Amino acid sequence: MNQEKEEPSEDNIRVVCRFRPLNDSEEKIGSKFAIKFPSGADDNCVSIGGKVYVFDRVLKPNVTQEQVYSAAAKSIVSDVLSGFNGTIFAYGQTSSGKTHTMEGVIGDSGLQGIIPRIVNDIFNHIYSMEENLEFHIKVSYFEIYMDKIRDLLDPSKVNLAVHEDKNHSVYVKGATERFVSSPEEVLEVIEEGKANRHIAVTNMNEHSSRSHSVFLINVKQENLENQKKLSGKLYLVDLAGSEKVSKTGAEGTVLDEAKNINKSLSALGNVIAALADGNKTHIPYRDSKLTRILQESLGGNAKTTVVICASPASYNESETKSTLDFGRRAK
Ligand code: ADP
Ligand code: MG
Repeated sequence: MNQEKEEPSEDNIRVVCRFRPLNDSEEKIGSKFAIKFPSGADDNCVSIGGKVYVFDRVLKPNVTQEQVYSAAAKSIVSDVLSGFNGTIFAYGQTSSGKTHTMEGVIGDSGLQGIIPRIVNDIFNHIYSMEENLEFHIKVSYFEIYMDKIRDLLDPSKVNLAVHEDKNHSVYVKGATERFVSSPEEVLEVIEEGKANRHIAVTNMNEHSSRSHSVFLINVKQENLENQKKLSGKLYLVDLAGSEKVSKTGAEGTVLDEAKNINKSLSALGNVIAALADGNKTHIPYRDSKLTRILQESLGGNAKTTVVICASPASYNESETKSTLDFGRRAK
């Protein structure tokens, strides 16, 4: 078997860039490949319109979901089991492959995405541990739409608040938490959340491109011999589409949604850029609900992977450039 090498996790912020293949509608309009992967390079650069971008890793359209997992997520699993917090989020325009990357086809061992693979890996680690450890794993699932947090595991909770406890730990107050003891149970919770998300909206594709979905895995462990406790939180975020909404066409709700998305994605970009800078003392976490929630899982000792997803088509060149620019700010 061709075992993928585990990527080192020394950097606290990693940026991985994934291009999907050209899709049917891009091919139909005769759109060409607008990107080049410079030969001889270490699978970490891409050029578009003569401009070269360098990331921790660039994943070409033909990579497998397994390779994406190894490059973007695998190392975070051991970090979380060692008591670190982490965040993996997918950024890019609608249709760039964010959901395919984060979720993929659940239940299909080849096509499943990062989230189901992480869940499997966490449980495999736990099953293989030899020490006398007790684990408590719980998950929450919510979405942020128009800067409101909606609980996907309890649709009656439509506007949850972000709180800070006395240890300055930030949490979503009242969010449903489900204790889970197997990968299958986690996948059931995900399906339940997705079904609830569908019920509330008329057009799921449109809705999911305008809201952020946030899946939280919380791993607590206690060593039963020395009572040592460790706790790690991992946020897995499928962001709203980053595309610019035409200023002339949009009005009403669509315009409000666009403004909200723009505001929260730029808040996220500013936080990541401030963290990557290393010299900033003020990190603007408070500028959006999304960055507040992620506060303890971005920066500090937390491990973050930004997966920027993009189309290779000339038709999408300007959106792809702005996606790559977002990724560049994180380095
Ligand atoms: P987004 O969540 O960014 O809006 P999706 O993940 O839903 O985009 O992808 C849009 C479509 O393209 C889906 O039908 C998806 O299955 C397909 N797709 C995305 N990425 C890939 C890929 N790497 N390989 C094959 N199909 C892909
Ligand atoms: Mg999506």
